Amino acid sequence: MKRFFGLVGLGLVVLVGVLVYRALTFTLEQGPLPPAVAVAVDDDAAVARLAAALRIPTVANSTEPHFDPAAFDALHAHLRASFPNLFTTLSTEAVNRDSLIFTWQGTDPTLKPILLMAHQDVVPVDTGTEPAWSRPPFAGEVADGWIVGRGALDVKSGLMGILEAVELLVKAGHRPKRTVYLAFGHDEELGGTHGAKAVAKRFAERGVHFEFVLDEGGSVVEGVVPGVKGPVALVGVAEKGYVSLRLSAEGAGGHSSMPPPRTAVGVVAQAVTRLEQSPFPAHIDHAGRFFAYVGPKMPFDRRLVFANLWLFEPLIFRILSGTPSMNASIRTTTAPTMMRGGVKDNVLPVHAEAVVNFRILPGETPATVKTRVEAVIDDPAVKVEEVEGFGDDPSPISDVRSTSFALVRDAIRQAAQDPELVVPLLTVGATDSRYFQGITDNTYRYLHIRLGPDDLARLHGTDERISVANYLEMVRFYYLLIRNAT
Ligand SMILES: [Zn+2]
Repeated sequence: MKRFFGLVGLGLVVLVGVLVYRALTFTLEQGPLPPAVAVAVDDDAAVARLAAALRIPTVANSTEPHFDPAAFDALHAHLRASFPNLFTTLSTEAVNRDSLIFTWQGTDPTLKPILLMAHQDVVPVDTGTEPAWSRPPFAGEVADGWIVGRGALDVKSGLMGILEAVELLVKAGHRPKRTVYLAFGHDEELGGTHGAKAVAKRFAERGVHFEFVLDEGGSVVEGVVPGVKGPVALVGVAEKGYVSLRLSAEGAGGHSSMPPPRTAVGVVAQAVTRLEQSPFPAHIDHAGRFFAYVGPKMPFDRRLVFANLWLFEPLIFRILSGTPSMNASIRTTTAPTMMRGGVKDNVLPVHAEAVVNFRILPGETPATVKTRVEAVIDDPAVKVEEVEGFGDDPSPISDVRSTSFALVRDAIRQAAQDPELVVPLLTVGATDSRYFQGITDNTYRYLHIRLGPDDLARLHGTDERISVANYLEMVRFYYLLIRNAT
């Protein structure tokens, strides 16, 4: 007996030893911080050019007319006037009138090209919210270190930042070895079908295959990853899929004074409840190396847990499920969004239905989601069908051990001079880059904007703004990325 406890004790000591050892040797896999490089941005002029771009209302309206062509003409004229060296060196072409492709021919045709993306359109400002803005949304004002206006974050800063960087590189005499493409769609906020989708088709027809594609998606955030203090640059290495399912039930109708045990409303309500009470299983793809990147940034107790995935995975998933944004990154989410049924308080409903929206994790598909939903509801009275037109598979996962990822990662760290900033993660929203899946293996979704706790609401919301310092850092990021990659 004593010998038995001795063995158990020894086993525990070994276990604790292994856990602690793994936590202590859980080191950064990002390599040394690349040295700072001076980038000669003309700060005031660059800020003024972005502010002027914010004054041009390239709004994408959800109802007809969707666009004002004059606004896009004005933006294109502004770009031409702002970046003269770029326009004489790069070739330009329009797609469906307002989307733009720029080509900066590389000197070595054996190297695969890269593609940097942004979109020109912005969402409208909700009528009535204008007074809540600190500055008018289309005035492009710069005050107290902030550039304010619709598109400051999403995503005219990215559009102008990319062009500023290329203009600087052209002026500095840089000659890229690999071809650099820039693509700026005009209808991303309406789904990108006439912009990015058509642009991707044109590249595919020409047989272009990209080393990597960089589009918006992730950003520098704080307080999103539980246990991590300070900023984290989330680089999206995959994108979720999308499906909405309609759950419906039929009833015999009749007077409500003598109801059956379950009405159509009750049947659908129970199905929705079952789905909410049975979330999809959590999963985080290890190819994305999330843990290897985020672990070393944590205090020792958390690091002990994150370094020993083999033992603590369920505990980790419980921690991550605690915040909606992390929860959305580790599982297919379930969101009942619409419900209706019945016509009058004393009439039994002949029909009831609910719509549930699912954002699908890589590894699953709209079809596997539907299969699981039917199994969870487990009720022959409920009909489950896909709502037309919205089903979309999740993207493949881009490998973070590729040289492409290292280029993006190191340009971020170099621009920010922060060795531990980058963390690869799934992007929860959809981006234009999904149309390029067939013509590159490496898609990264990242915009170098720094978002504080209250800034998420500014995206598509009120008082959208970017700090002057952040914008200039973004220009340096694009400059370093293009220079290092080409
Ligand atoms: Zn956007």
